[in-house]
Amino acid sequence: MLSRPQSTLSVSGRVDRLRAALDDAARPVQVIVSGASNRRWLTGFTGSAGLVVVTPERFVLVTDGRYGEQARAQADAAGAGDLEVLVGTTMAEQKALVLGLLSGDTGAEATVMSRADWMGFASSVELIPIDGTVERLRRTKDAAEIELIAYAADIASQALGELASMLVPGVTERDVRDELEYRMRRLGADGPSYETIVASGPTHAALPHARPTGRQMVDGDLVVIDVGALVDGYHSDMTRTYVVGEPSDEQQQWFELVTASQAAGLAAIRSGVTARDVDAACRSVFDDAGLGELFVHGTGHGVGLDIHEEPFLGRASDAELVLGDVVTVEPGLYRVGSGGVRIEDLVEVTSSGHRNLTALSKDSPCPPSPPTT
Ligand code: ZN
Ligand code: ZN
Repeated sequence: MLSRPQSTLSVSGRVDRLRAALDDAARPVQVIVSGASNRRWLTGFTGSAGLVVVTPERFVLVTDGRYGEQARAQADAAGAGDLEVLVGTTMAEQKALVLGLLSGDTGAEATVMSRADWMGFASSVELIPIDGTVERLRRTKDAAEIELIAYAADIASQALGELASMLVPGVTERDVRDELEYRMRRLGADGPSYETIVASGPTHAALPHARPTGRQMVDGDLVVIDVGALVDGYHSDMTRTYVVGEPSDEQQQWFELVTASQAAGLAAIRSGVTARDVDAACRSVFDDAGLGELFVHGTGHGVGLDIHEEPFLGRASDAELVLGDVVTVEPGLYRVGSGGVRIEDLVEVTSSGHRNLTALSKDSPCPPSPPTT
């Protein structure tokens, strides 16, 4: 049985990191934070509605009547004891409470806030987009966050390892998804991290984001399984690819190329490298084999309170990897008619390289045998 990490999450000090970032960037020194993951990261509050106002002196969550008690309790438990929780029963009251805290230029998340809210606030204060500011701070995970993500990754690894032997002719993609999600919950997950992908055969496996269907697997199918567990708001993300029955020569070749590409990407990871260089390391293996055009997506992404977050590892990514980044490395090859192969691990970036959080073997396209115990 997997055991939950002992360390507790704490949001203590995060609001001061945000204030410092605002100061450094000569941005507005007061902001409204409305993105759900940003709100949670700052305050510990998990409710679905609320605006966080941060000024040089105040740190306030304005929410509605459903959430006052919950917000206070969660903020205290998460170490945000200095957070003031204000409750407005109507939207108009909440807006008035927010505006009462503000004067002059105010930062806000233009891509998150509704247009109606934006227009409403903009009629009283000068709004300046600060999108990405909190996300950039969230990139750097602390030890408790990393241990929670590692635990989520272990849950997904164990669940997939236990059921890969279920990949036999006649089983459907949905059967595999349902069993995986059930096992992850049994192992301690709150649920799946995102819509589990089980994509089989020459057409479905060729789609990087296929949704599970009632298609029955047949001998010779490639099966791409992309799965993650959610624990206390934190995600994990992994992909393994198997063959039902014996792999063909082309399937074996693709599997070995993707394995080599993924190994090259992992080897390129350490703090200080540019995300683009990790992407290039993966891509060059496919280019050398003349299959570069079959790698149709970016190499990876950060994972945390969001399943896809900063930094993104793609051809055009200028981001420099730093200590505390948790990122995926997930090259793949896809062609309708053949199917697809993707292998994805989740890693913590370290000064000398990386710590791989994904324990499940990726040595062979043949599903592991059922556990004997
Ligand atoms: Zn994935
Ligand atoms: Zn991913």
